[in-house]
Amino acid sequence: MNVHRIRLLPEAVSRKLAAGEVITRPASVVKELLENALDAGARRITVELRAGGRNLIRVSDNGWGMTLDDLRLAVQRHATSKLETVEDLRHLTSYGFRGEALASIAAVSRLRIETNAAEDTAGCFLVADGGEVKEIGEVARPRGTTVTVQALFYNLPVRRGFLKSDNHETRLVTEVVKEYALAHIQVHFELRADGDELLVLPPVSAVKDRLVPFVDPQVEQHLLQLNAQHPLLSLSGYLADPFALSGSYPLQLIFINQRPVRSRVVMRAVYEGYGRTLHGGNPVFLLFLSTAPENLDVNIHPTKQEVRFVDERLLFDFISEAVRKTLGVKLQSTVDYQELAVAPLITDSPTLPQGFWQLHDSFIFAQVQSGYCIIDQHAAHERILFEELLRTPEHIPQQGLLFPLTVELTAEEFAVYQEVNSILASFGVQTKPFSGQTIVIEALPAGANMGRDDVRSLFAELVTSERGERTLRERLARAIACKGAVKAGQRLSQTEMESLINRLFACREPFFCPHGRPAIIRITLDDLAKRFGRT
Ligand code: ADP
Ligand code: MG
Repeated sequence: MNVHRIRLLPEAVSRKLAAGEVITRPASVVKELLENALDAGARRITVELRAGGRNLIRVSDNGWGMTLDDLRLAVQRHATSKLETVEDLRHLTSYGFRGEALASIAAVSRLRIETNAAEDTAGCFLVADGGEVKEIGEVARPRGTTVTVQALFYNLPVRRGFLKSDNHETRLVTEVVKEYALAHIQVHFELRADGDELLVLPPVSAVKDRLVPFVDPQVEQHLLQLNAQHPLLSLSGYLADPFALSGSYPLQLIFINQRPVRSRVVMRAVYEGYGRTLHGGNPVFLLFLSTAPENLDVNIHPTKQEVRFVDERLLFDFISEAVRKTLGVKLQSTVDYQELAVAPLITDSPTLPQGFWQLHDSFIFAQVQSGYCIIDQHAAHERILFEELLRTPEHIPQQGLLFPLTVELTAEEFAVYQEVNSILASFGVQTKPFSGQTIVIEALPAGANMGRDDVRSLFAELVTSERGERTLRERLARAIACKGAVKAGQRLSQTEMESLINRLFACREPFFCPHGRPAIIRITLDDLAKRFGRT
């Protein structure tokens, strides 16, 4: 027998393969079931998990339900009530339209659907196993639908094996519920895992009220409301002001017509809008875009996580402008930013009543008019070096190495090296190619304290980052500043502290280190009075 002959796959096999594309883990099951419940007009949705969804996923809704005939069809592939002609795709307002989700879930699990399309009659149920319908019958239940998915991927053992820990899968499901709950604040959502209530979200009238369980109260205070209109697009949502940037995994959500999407264009537009205020930090944002369905192609990704807008350039400009405007308004109206500024320190110092005081050789305390400041000496020095490097790279003293360092780069890193070599030189990093992908470093900026591994990690970082001239200079400056700055745990003299503070306040942006972490914290007398119960 010729094993290379082309054959049609048996139905059961092709069904499983197709299902594997849409349904990859419990979170994707939950996503599809939530979308169906919302498409059915549900006002109350409950999600239940056992063992991270591995053993059981149950989504119950009080939507308009299905009749027995609908139910039979619902688990067939390409059975949908949401689309009749290809033309309809252009005016789509529902989440679903391919009619694939239930069939796919059925193919890779043991599925039970109970549903009722009316208040006053009995409902119906269907049981399927690996995509084969096993049982259909009547059942008493109120209007709405309950879908129970058990033994997910029992017939795709490899995929089942790829699932992560229960906690991890539960976390991914929580993310999904969070996204849809934020897109539908008028709907009551609940999430339970192994009997624990993880989320109970009663209907609210403002997105901000629903955000409470999802953002840290510190950040919440820094959220600015955003609104912008264009004939083709409208935008609303929230942005964190640059005083509340986060280093890792901040809440960043984009919805287009209430569909949570990943969009590089929107993402980059937001960062562009923040511009220099970001300093390598990450903003929290939550954007709701809406547009007429015909301006949107939702059919470019199997799980519809990406969509394409008719005019992506317009989208980019519209968003970055809206972000800039929103932040601009805030920056102008922030008294804090002004008050913390140069004046109190520069005019009152250098002879403040108590001088400067260093805590654990790491933080500097300085009195200001409204109270006192705590300066993180490393972050502050990083900021100073960073700005100095960008301002006058030609003044950076170089230090020739007695023993030049040879560094072997990967092919990718070497390509980056060739691109950035001359910029490196202008920062005082003197190098030359040695042989193959090996380079020799002959001089480094004085005081930069960089070793072979630092140089390597610099290149490794550059490989994955953008390499426009400005970004590159900033990255290099940031890396060099980080290496060169005084560390925590280093004792400083009065004169050194004073010089550090004066140089810091001469910076354009003294409040954050180049990675976006705060360099100064201010505690006011009011704060103290509160802590001591005086108010
Ligand atoms: P799609 O959502 O793309 O139409 P699905 O496979 O997700 O495809 O669902 C198939 C059909 O089953 C839907 O078009 C809808 O008519 C019906 N259906 C699924 N879930 C529900 C639900 N929770 N409530 C009411 N009808 C539902
Ligand atoms: Mg669907």
